[in-house]
Amino acid sequence: MTTLVEAAPTLDIETRLFIGGEFTDSVEAGRIAVLNPHDNSTLAEISEARAADVDKAVAAARKAFPSWKRVSAAERGRLLLKLADAIEADADYLARLETLDTGHPIRDTRNLDVPRTAATFRYYAGIADKVDGRVPPVETGFLNYITREPIGVVGQIVPWNFPLMFCGWKLGPALATGNTVVLKPAELTPLTTLRLGHLINKVGIPAGVVNIVPGYGHVAGQHLAEHKGVDKIAFTGSTVTGRRIVQASAGNLKRVQLELGGKGANIVFEDAPVDAAVMGSAFAIFHNQGQACIAGSRLLLHEKIADEFLEKFLKLTNSLKVGNPLDPQTEMGPLTSVGHRERVLNYIQVAKEQGSRILTGGKIPGAAEYHGGCYIEPTVVTAKPQDRVCQEEVFGPFVSVTRFKDEAEVLEIANSTDYGLGGGLWTSNLQRGHRVAAAIRTGMVWVNTYKRVNPNSPFGGIGQSGYGRDLGAESVMDYTYAKSVWVNVDAQLPPFYKR
Ligand code: NAD
Repeated sequence: MTTLVEAAPTLDIETRLFIGGEFTDSVEAGRIAVLNPHDNSTLAEISEARAADVDKAVAAARKAFPSWKRVSAAERGRLLLKLADAIEADADYLARLETLDTGHPIRDTRNLDVPRTAATFRYYAGIADKVDGRVPPVETGFLNYITREPIGVVGQIVPWNFPLMFCGWKLGPALATGNTVVLKPAELTPLTTLRLGHLINKVGIPAGVVNIVPGYGHVAGQHLAEHKGVDKIAFTGSTVTGRRIVQASAGNLKRVQLELGGKGANIVFEDAPVDAAVMGSAFAIFHNQGQACIAGSRLLLHEKIADEFLEKFLKLTNSLKVGNPLDPQTEMGPLTSVGHRERVLNYIQVAKEQGSRILTGGKIPGAAEYHGGCYIEPTVVTAKPQDRVCQEEVFGPFVSVTRFKDEAEVLEIANSTDYGLGGGLWTSNLQRGHRVAAAIRTGMVWVNTYKRVNPNSPFGGIGQSGYGRDLGAESVMDYTYAKSVWVNVDAQLPPFYKR
C-alpha cells in the first residue's frame, strides 16, 4: 500500500522573540537550533531569549497590564473567540508544524492538539464575563463585596510535550481574567508558539499582553522565575524543576502554580470489559509516545485476567504503526529529542538490572528509516511495585506490568508513589468503580476510560505532581485574587470606638 506522507509546511514562521507586539532579535543575538525528531535535521534557528530579553518582555507585560485589566471582560472574551477562530483557520499549518517540531503523529495534532487548543480558547472566551464576585451578609449598616482581581504579570513556563495545547491551557485563563503574560516555551519545541504570536497580533490582542521568549530553562526560565516584576509563575514540567521554581519565587513571594510529573496507575480488575481495557490502556501509554504527564505508565492487572489481557495487549502493541509522524497512518512517531530517547533507553536498562522481563520492545527499531531520528519501540516490561521504573517517571512508550490479587492490594500499589496526578480503573462493578475512584490519591481519575481531558474539567495533581489547576472554572481561582471591599452605608451608625 502506498502511504501518503504529508508535505512538511514551508517554514515561513518568525524565528525572533515576540515582545510588545513585535518580533524582535534577542539582545545578545544567541541562537537555538530547532531539530526535526524524525531525522534530526535542523528545522529553524530561533533567537534565544536571555536575561535582558526577559527583562524587556516583563517590562512590556507590566506596561500593558493596567489597560488590559480595564478592557471589559466581554471584550477580552471576544478577542479570545477571534483567536480560537484564527487557530482553526490556520489548523492545517499548525498541525503540520507541531508534528514536524515535536514528532506527534499528524493524525493526533490534526484531531486533538489543534482543535483542543481552539476549544480551550473558546471556553475561556465564554468564561471571561462570568467571573463574578459575591456579597456576603455582614453586620447591619455595612456592605461587603468581594471581587476577583487579575494577579498582574504572569510568567508561564511550559515543557516540550504538548507545546501548542499548553498555550491554550495557560494563556486562556490568564487573559480571560485580565492578566498579561510572558510565556517561555521549551527550547526544543517553540515553533507553534511563535506562530501563535502572529495570530495574537492578527486578531488585535493589544501589544504587550502576550510576550513569547523561547530560551533555555536555566537561563531565561530561571530569570523569569526569579523576576521581581513577575507576580505569578504558572509552571508545567518536571518535579525537579518545579522545586527550583518554588525556590526562585521566594525573592518577591510570587504566586506559584505547579503542574508536574506523574506515574499513573491503570488498574484492570477481573470484571473489566477486557477488549475496551486493552484498547484504552494502549492509548493511555502510547499516545504521544508516552510523553504525557498523565500517561498510564503502571499497568496493574488482576491475576485472573492478566494472561488473557496481556496476550491481547502485546498483540496490539506489536501492531502499532511506528513511523514518520507526517504519515497520516502513523500511530507512534519518534520521541521529541535524542537526549530524551537516551533517558528512556536508560530506564530500559534499569528495568533489566532490577529483574524486569522485557515482554516486547526495548530497543531502537531496526529498519534503516528509523536510524536518523529519535525512534524507540513501544515497550512493555514486568516489574515490582517498588522498582525504580514503577516509582520514577520514564515519560516514554514504556509501561510496567504488575499483577495483583485483590482491591486492597492494588490500592496500596496504586498509592505507593510520591506522585498524584492521574490514575484509572476498568471494572463492570459500579460500586467498585466509585469506591476505587475515591480511594486513588490523584487529582484525576478515569473509570472505564483513560486520559480524558476537556477544557471544562480541572487538570492537576497533588503531592509531587504539584498544586493549582489548569483548565475548568477552577483555574480562574489560580489567575485571580479575592479583593474584599467594605462600605459603611449607614451614616447613623455609631463610631467603631465609643468615647
Ligand atoms: P523540565 O522541567 O525540564 O522543563 C519544563 C520547562 O521548564 C521548560 O520550558 C524548561 O526550559 C524550563 N526550565 C528548566 N529548568 C528551569 C529552571 N531552572 N528555571 C525555570 N525554568 C526551567 O521538563 P521537561 O522535561 O521539559 O518536560 C517533561 C516533564 O513535564 C515531565 O515530568 C512531565 O510529567 C511534566 N509535565 C507535566 C504536565 C502537567 O500538567 N502536570 C504536563 C506535561 C508535562
